[in-house]
Amino acid sequence: MALPQHGIARDELFAQLDSFKAGDVQWRDGHAFTLVYSAGPDVVAVAEEAYRRFGAENGLNTDAFPSLRRLQNEVVDIVGEWLQAGPEGAGFLTTGGTESLLMAVKAARERGRKEKGITAPNVVLPTSAHAAFEKGCYYFGLESRRVPVGDDWRADPAAMAAAVDDNTVLLVGSAPQYPQGVIDPIADIAAIAAERDISCHVDACMGGVTLTYLRRLGHPVPPWNFEVPGVTSISVDLHKYGYTAKGASVIMHRNKQLRAYQTYVTDNWLGGVYGSSAVLGTKSGGPWAAAWAVMHFLGDDGYLRVTAAARRACEQLAAAIRAMPKLQMRAEPDTTLIAFGATDPETFDVYALADALWRKGWYVDRQGPPPSLHCTVNAVHEGRIDAFVADLRAAIDEVTAASGSGQQGAYGTVE
Ligand SMILES: *Cc1c(COP(=O)(O)O)cnc(C)c1O
Repeated sequence: MALPQHGIARDELFAQLDSFKAGDVQWRDGHAFTLVYSAGPDVVAVAEEAYRRFGAENGLNTDAFPSLRRLQNEVVDIVGEWLQAGPEGAGFLTTGGTESLLMAVKAARERGRKEKGITAPNVVLPTSAHAAFEKGCYYFGLESRRVPVGDDWRADPAAMAAAVDDNTVLLVGSAPQYPQGVIDPIADIAAIAAERDISCHVDACMGGVTLTYLRRLGHPVPPWNFEVPGVTSISVDLHKYGYTAKGASVIMHRNKQLRAYQTYVTDNWLGGVYGSSAVLGTKSGGPWAAAWAVMHFLGDDGYLRVTAAARRACEQLAAAIRAMPKLQMRAEPDTTLIAFGATDPETFDVYALADALWRKGWYVDRQGPPPSLHCTVNAVHEGRIDAFVADLRAAIDEVTAASGSGQQGAYGTVE
């Protein structure tokens, strides 16, 4: 496609852009059970306006933008409170869960190298840990040692301990893990790490905000954050259940010394000292301002409210699925994630079910093994579950009648 010779007028341009979205999932109406999180139009509007005001400011160098330094420090401080990090805790904003996890892997590699001289490092992690750890191991040259989860989909600490050797630099647990939505036994995993002086990362990209507020709401939540001895770093995605704009996650380390293994500084070029807190160089202040603004707009009682709403919607959906003979819950939801498969996978294809749902405008995640569908239930879904369940029933009937099969699809795409 060639650039148009003459610029297009602003109104025409935005009309075109909006028209491109015609086939997209209508997330503002609660039709997306993955990829987008919303606590309602007022919160979305605050995020968008704050993003617009700081979109051009550059987090590469906060000397020029004390405003950005302040935004980052305050956002990270609040997340530190949520994580019970204490005064020693030290973190950075990143662009998302993937960048936070890449940094956890990089920091552990660096620590193993500097403190123990490890040159062929490995990471011990359950099969349920996020794909971004795999990416990090690949990018940074570590071996990924995947350990099967137990029958309850939770990490198996004894099997993890058996996989650890002198070259292990990092153990991983998730709170919760993405695929089945269950919380790993963080205290047991961290104890293995502490005993051997190995880093232990808790991936709370999904659950960091939700678990903080579920506990405050009186739900039973096992220890998962810095209150657990041995946990050295935790990731929390604000652009998920923090309900802020895309491009905001926090990686928090137990102290500044551990955080130092994350950063990178060089002067080996002709442009002077170049330092960076994470992967990127230039980075927009937009997501930082949006995170700060949404967090202050919602406030503590706002997060209690939206967390309770998401949990109610999740429980409502779980109850409906439990009552559907064709479907089987993979696990009881520990937070707000629901995964389910077919009661009889020989005769019922859940990917065909996902196709049928998408024809009705609902987008759910497809995953496996085993073939499963996945719903990330959030505040936007409160009041929408009845409509979804009605379409889910209709979709089950369609698939049963057609006995068709569908495509697995992908969690992330490369085109
Ligand atoms: C979403 C998620 C990630 C990756 O985060 P991105 O923001 O998509 O890069 C990592 N771990 C868990 C548990 C997640 O839910």
